Amino acid sequence: MRLIILGVPGAGKGTQAKILSEKFGIPHVSTGDIFRSNIKNGTPLGIKVKEYLNSGKLVPDSLTCEIVGDRLAQNDCKDGFLLDGFPRTIPQAEYLDETLKEMGVSLSAVLNLHVPDEKIIKRLTGRRVCPKCGKSYHLLYNPPASDNSCSDCGTTVIQRDDDKEETVLERLKTYHEQTEPLIRYYFEKGLLITAIGQEEIEDTTQAVLEALKNVD
Ligand code: AMP
Repeated sequence: MRLIILGVPGAGKGTQAKILSEKFGIPHVSTGDIFRSNIKNGTPLGIKVKEYLNSGKLVPDSLTCEIVGDRLAQNDCKDGFLLDGFPRTIPQAEYLDETLKEMGVSLSAVLNLHVPDEKIIKRLTGRRVCPKCGKSYHLLYNPPASDNSCSDCGTTVIQRDDDKEETVLERLKTYHEQTEPLIRYYFEKGLLITAIGQEEIEDTTQAVLEALKNVD
């Protein structure tokens, strides 16, 4: 299965992508995760992209496409993958089309995880993550322990810089201007499937699995 998961930042793409990747046995390729781990490790790529992530702006297409091209060429992506956070612009989608054509494969579907804008700010600014193991929490929906420690590894959870309110507003603006046109792009290709994101993670998973039930 070759899937893309699209959605406004905070729609729950990352959480659902992890669940789907396990269920379908396909690698979860998240450009945001790749960038964040490079930033954390202080790699040359991390140094290049840090400012974009901290300000909620998109990393330039050329750099992002190169990273994804390298990732999709790895062996574990041969029989399928789940792209989360890529493509985010029409040129990235066109690059992906070309890359898949060269690989001799095609997309199974593009899942649009829809959540109305008004819910997103509350959601994103309440999000916390464990800087060590990556487990995510939410102050309202899935809170960490009262001492703010991660239930898996005990590290104190933190707020991602790009989940701060000012950056969230910028990310929403970026999404509407640059990423939303992809919904039409994939609709016109007959690949778009929509699921409505719910408050509870399990309810969203159910909606997503229902939406994907005829995709193979
Ligand atoms: P995410 O975790 O998917 O919300 O991504 C976090 C940040 O990484 C975004 O706000 C962008 O700065 C950057 N980023 C992730 N994916 C892309 C992409 N496909 N194109 C450009 N920038 C990206």
